Amino acid sequence: MRDSTQHWQKILAEGFSSTDELLQFLNLPNTPNSGLAEKTFKTRVPRGFARRMEPGNPFDPLLRQVLASPEELNEQPGFEKDPLDESSSNLIEGLIHKYNGRVLLTITGSCAINCRYCFRRHFPYNKNNPGRQGWENALSYIAGDAGIKEVIFSGGDPLLASDTLIQYLYERLANIPHVNTIRIHTRIPIVLPERIQDSLLKILKHPRIKTVVVVHSNHPHELSDEVKAASQALRQAECHLLNQSVLLRGVNDDAKTLASLSEQLFAMDILPYYLHLLDKVQGAHHFDVSLKQAQMIYRDLQTILPGYLVPRLVKEIPGEKNKTLCSVNFFANTTE
Ligand SMILES: *Cc1c(COP(=O)(O)O)cnc(C)c1O
Ligand code: SF4
Repeated sequence: MRDSTQHWQKILAEGFSSTDELLQFLNLPNTPNSGLAEKTFKTRVPRGFARRMEPGNPFDPLLRQVLASPEELNEQPGFEKDPLDESSSNLIEGLIHKYNGRVLLTITGSCAINCRYCFRRHFPYNKNNPGRQGWENALSYIAGDAGIKEVIFSGGDPLLASDTLIQYLYERLANIPHVNTIRIHTRIPIVLPERIQDSLLKILKHPRIKTVVVVHSNHPHELSDEVKAASQALRQAECHLLNQSVLLRGVNDDAKTLASLSEQLFAMDILPYYLHLLDKVQGAHHFDVSLKQAQMIYRDLQTILPGYLVPRLVKEIPGEKNKTLCSVNFFANTTE
């Protein structure tokens, strides 16, 4: 079986699992009280990602994304545990059907990296690993609704799933005639490019199903040569590559950084897709950029880049049937 421990799983297991360890590696002093924040959401950082950080720089934009901070413990009004109200659209185990034509399958609970701003930090993952039996329910739900054209693999990070599970889902979904696209929302090509190996690529390159891979990168420093090699391999497997970012205070909240991110992604054949406003999740308020500030940054970005390199600035509003565009509309007076 291919599920025996693979090279990438070993690399994953060797990643940093505490802030102390990570800070020591970067020649930085320990931050007091980060241990408490780690209790609710543990530290997880692949070594390859940490090597792209600048040693000795406590404000490194990659470090800031993963460094557990005592600030997470301050509860702030308006920042909730389930800001997207996902538990209410999660009627079948492992399946979220909020948007027209698309369903989301949460096929793994964990990630290769734990991003401190992530809205999934409070998500009840254990309820969303239905196991092989449980997948049958999700698959018959999809088979029974001819309006579903696209199935999105999400998580956690879906590429942490075994090749065996991914292949099983591809085969089953390919037998449903109205499903024509599988989209994979993953940070793995950025944070653990070693996982993009031939056995996986063979599954993603499907004769009938189109594969779209939406990676998640927030800063140009994340894009190493290994990441480039992984994206080339995905392109050769005929995957369409897009990127989504989250606008994060102290990480990428300026037009120059975002422009450089778009340009460097494009050099790897990855097109910018979404720039998300932060979901207001408890513990992530220190990453928040106000809507007004975001719109100012976005306008600057539009003056720097060609249109196809400008991601859509969006926000997820619970109850809405799609993500909500947040760029300033010339014809409407934006409120808030
Ligand atoms: C973001 C998201 C999608 C995909 O939306 P697109 O606009 O097609 O990228 C689907 N389902 C859920 C629950 C989502 O959050
Ligand atoms: S779901 Fe994405 S953003 Fe959240 S911790 Fe995992 S990799 Fe990071």
